[in-house]
Amino acid sequence: MNMREPFSRHQRRLGGDMEEEVHGIVIVGGGICGLATALALHRKGIPSLVLEKSETLRAAGGSIGVHSNGWCVLEQLGIAPELRETADVVTEFHDVWQKEQGNKSVVVPVRGELRWLKRKDLIETMAKNIPSGAIRFGCHIAEIHPANPENHGAVLTTLDGRVIRAKALIGCDGSNSVVAKHLGLTPPRSAPRMLLRGYTRYPHGHPFGPHFLRLRCKGMFVGRSPMTDQLVSCFVAFWHPGGDATKDARAMKAFLVEKLKGQCSDDIVELVRGLDPESLIVLTRIWYRPPWQVMFSSFRRGTATVAGDAMHVFGSYIGQGGSAALEDALVLARSLARAADGRGELREEKIGAAMGAYVRERRLRVARLSLESFAMGTLLATKSLLTRLACFAIVTLLGTNSLGHTHYDCGRL
Ligand SMILES: Cc1cc2nc3c(=O)[nH]c(=O)nc-3n(C[C@H](O)[C@H](O)[C@H](O)COP(=O)(O)OP(=O)(O)OC[C@H]3O[C@@H](n4cnc5c(N)ncnc54)[C@H](O)[C@@H]3O)c2cc1C
Repeated sequence: MNMREPFSRHQRRLGGDMEEEVHGIVIVGGGICGLATALALHRKGIPSLVLEKSETLRAAGGSIGVHSNGWCVLEQLGIAPELRETADVVTEFHDVWQKEQGNKSVVVPVRGELRWLKRKDLIETMAKNIPSGAIRFGCHIAEIHPANPENHGAVLTTLDGRVIRAKALIGCDGSNSVVAKHLGLTPPRSAPRMLLRGYTRYPHGHPFGPHFLRLRCKGMFVGRSPMTDQLVSCFVAFWHPGGDATKDARAMKAFLVEKLKGQCSDDIVELVRGLDPESLIVLTRIWYRPPWQVMFSSFRRGTATVAGDAMHVFGSYIGQGGSAALEDALVLARSLARAADGRGELREEKIGAAMGAYVRERRLRVARLSLESFAMGTLLATKSLLTRLACFAIVTLLGTNSLGHTHYDCGRL
């Protein structure tokens, strides 16, 4: 384990050689949400410790679309100007349904800011703005117990047997969250979907303009978005992967190139053929927490809570998981700041109430996003006419296709 101690408040000797560390705020998971939460707290003058199971920053993962609501948060975190330098603005969505009777297409203008960032740029920019030593790598949390019967604080045990005591615990540990389990949340659901994503380089510039293409054809969904004038993000999803699913990204890419030939235009086939092997991600299941769970689950236990995918993994149908995780981070840090004294120390008796306020503030917002994503996913996959009509009504009412959910500002830090 890569051990650095500046945030350890103190250490207590347990039996034998075992020592217990005691900290204020502990964040489990150093993905987008964990790093954003640590950075937001840091901007409020509150220290925290991020525990990440990987040995280094998990910067892989191709690209991520950040909408206006995410940019509002990046602005508050003070890193928007730097990130804007790395990615161009997308101005229109081009939705195309490829059918035997001919193509149907709709152009949706993007009202607000949308850019496709390299996930690496986002992760690294957040990490370098967090004080050195506030992220501990190679620290896999295996178990969590309440610190006392009143649930004030938590005791975390790492895979290698270390014990860490936290006054406040924040689970930003993704869809398979150990903190969510500690809160008693039902595990998220999954559905078989094959998805390949990555980005392709065009050394002499790409011809696609500032437009994001969403193409539906024969059980497949292709997304193509420019990132810069030489870099284009792409994903291909199948709804019914069956025996075609493989976790080997290069094999999947070769398979898709063959499958797309004759079905899509040559530029799509070339885009997929050119996907940078370093950027490839393949998924064979999509994880989601159904909207009714997001609406009614208890997201706090004493002074422990969850944020990001650990709270509301969406299933990636509306591309809001990352931006919503950024919103969570800001709202949580703002609430916790109300429980801190002038020196950034949390007042123990106020932490639970601050977390309760965070959950209340986030509940309707994330339930709406969860419902939209759920309806979109169902709409694309179901064959039932009745279900399609119901989902169509939901996405129409909520303005999903016109990106109504991106026009949201969670406020100042
Ligand atoms: C295919 C796909 C495409 C997507 N596209 C978009 C998009 O275009 N736009 C968008 O906004 N969102 C998108 N999303 C969603 C977005 O990527 C996620 O919602 C977002 O990354 C969630 O961040 P997180 O920090 O909550 O979780 P994660 O990114 O999952 O991070 C969790 C971290 O916790 C660590 N961890 C887990 N368990 C432990 C443990 N026990 N101990 C210590 N560390 C632990 C993990 O190593 C990881 O670093 C997409 C998702 C998918 C699957």
